Amino acid sequence: MSRTQRTKVGVIGVGHLGQHHAKHFSQLPHAELIGVYDIDQSRAQIVAERYGTTAYPDLDLLLRDCEAVSVVTPTRQHAVVAKQCIEAGKHVFIEKPITKTVAEADLLLTLAEQHKVLIQVGHIERLNPALLALKDLSLNPKFIEIQRLAPYNVRGTDVPVVLDLMIHDIDILLALVNSPVKNMHASGVSIMTDSVDIANVRIRFQNGTVANLTSSRVAKDKVRKIKIFQKDLYITIDFLLGLTEVYRVLEAHEKDPQAIMTAPFVRNGTHKSITYEKPPVKKIDALRMELANFIASVQGRETPIVDGKAGREALDVAIRIHDMIIEDIL
Ligand code: NAD
Repeated sequence: MSRTQRTKVGVIGVGHLGQHHAKHFSQLPHAELIGVYDIDQSRAQIVAERYGTTAYPDLDLLLRDCEAVSVVTPTRQHAVVAKQCIEAGKHVFIEKPITKTVAEADLLLTLAEQHKVLIQVGHIERLNPALLALKDLSLNPKFIEIQRLAPYNVRGTDVPVVLDLMIHDIDILLALVNSPVKNMHASGVSIMTDSVDIANVRIRFQNGTVANLTSSRVAKDKVRKIKIFQKDLYITIDFLLGLTEVYRVLEAHEKDPQAIMTAPFVRNGTHKSITYEKPPVKKIDALRMELANFIASVQGRETPIVDGKAGREALDVAIRIHDMIIEDIL
């Protein structure tokens, strides 16, 4: 009988999000949750007790006992903590954004290569079921509109809105378009913090695709929407409703007089009709799936959905947008 291979894993930083990493690792069949570490020892104790694991008093001790770790500390701590893990030869899952600066991300990527460990980054929206519903469509977007608005919440405000919220959409966008950025025009304002709280950017890619992104952490209601326009296809995704809708322009067939009768418009002498589809959106737990992918990648059965390089690219574009806004404001 074959035994399930289980990777010994730990969680570093068990606050709001890290506690859920601990929960999933305690449940995933291919993972063995060895323990948690948090500079707040009482917090580590509470989470460890909840998931039947050990609260380590020292990070080095946790690293000694693990093969892989999740780094779920505040973003400004990612670089220093992940560096210690990688230098100890451990695979790391780092919550998004990978680090606070591109130089820090580059250092981690170099170290990971030297120590032959993998870095995965927690851009969880790539696993949003409403986005996964597009997997069977052939995408070649010409214009993409993305909106992410959220009511004000102190959590996450240790970084500007571009690094907190917009970076999710930048990562999705880079994966959808798969072409280098040609130019960008960004603007933004501060409302609630001393940093940028509302940001807008228009990005033109080298392949001609244009995207318009707006992120705000000062809104009455949450909004998370993507609209994708391409030749004869329009897709609209509402992440909050878990709703994906696809409108297609189709040629009405000459052999089908009924279709021609109902085709609402004519273009270049051809009768056209518009169809509407709602691809099925599967209910999944995106965090569980993301962490299962990390463990499977450590075990060589899968590759990371968002690797360190993709996390670095999203950060690089985000920082360029933020710097452009700061330059514009000053
Ligand atoms: P949090 O403040 O609730 O928790 C952070 C925890 O890390 C705290 O318990 C703190 O004591 C601990 N900590 C701080 N420095 C540490 C260190 N050097 N070593 C060990 N523990 C340390 O923060 P959070 O909201 O859970 O966010 C954590 C990270 O997750 C951030 O990078 C954030 O951007 C990211 N995040 C990602 C998503 C997402 O959608 N993927 C959502 C929320 C947060």
